[in-house]
Amino acid sequence: MKVTFLGTGTSQGIPVIGSTHPVCLSENPKDKRLRVSVLIQWNNYNFVIDCGPDFRQQMLRSKCTKLDGILFTHEHADHVMGLDDIRPFFFRQGDIDIYAHKRVVKALKRVFAYIFETENKYPGAPNVEVNQVDGRNFKVGNLEVIPIEGYHNQLQVYGYRFDKFAYLTDMKTVADSEIEKLQNLDVLVVNALREEPHVSHFNLEEALSFISKVKPKRAYLTHISHHMGFHDEVQQKLPDNVFLAYDNLQITI
Ligand SMILES: [Zn+2]
Repeated sequence: MKVTFLGTGTSQGIPVIGSTHPVCLSENPKDKRLRVSVLIQWNNYNFVIDCGPDFRQQMLRSKCTKLDGILFTHEHADHVMGLDDIRPFFFRQGDIDIYAHKRVVKALKRVFAYIFETENKYPGAPNVEVNQVDGRNFKVGNLEVIPIEGYHNQLQVYGYRFDKFAYLTDMKTVADSEIEKLQNLDVLVVNALREEPHVSHFNLEEALSFISKVKPKRAYLTHISHHMGFHDEVQQKLPDNVFLAYDNLQITI
């Protein structure tokens, strides 16, 4: 399985528009972060987790020409606003599978009403096949997926485990019963916003303490704010098996 980090930034991305913060002005490509998403590829399958406002650019950059489905974590704008850009995939392939909690599906129907229209639908609009995620394991392609529930302040959010890989973002609290589902991972990806505490995201300390509970072989941090600091400096402070993810990073599991 190959995982490509399509975006590793928090909701505004890095650089933040108009910002003169040193991290936003950094020339290091590892300090430039699109909105958070990953591309997961195995056999001939391509799935993305979330589809934010940078989705088009991410699909072009990763040279992804076929999309087998989108798994949504939750309905916040930085995770869903690229859905219209599935059109090129839809025109070539037909309906695109989406996987989401029913509350997220409801939000998508509100924001992208024209995609879900059943009468007099605009001919250029794409079609999706809705697959509701309800906490039970399900399959994408030939692979079993285990949903992992967490909370983003008060909002329920799904992370997903595929075999020895798990991807969790926008988590602030995760119950012990969900942590049980994360045993024996080769790779855990988890959100870490910055060093300062935040009401709805793990900060660095909380992410590291979560990683030490889950005990994966390796962990990658994502959904990063410019307040976290420069990639190269932050990386030096991390434990040996923990890495700050960056855009275009590819890992094989
Ligand atoms: Zn987010």
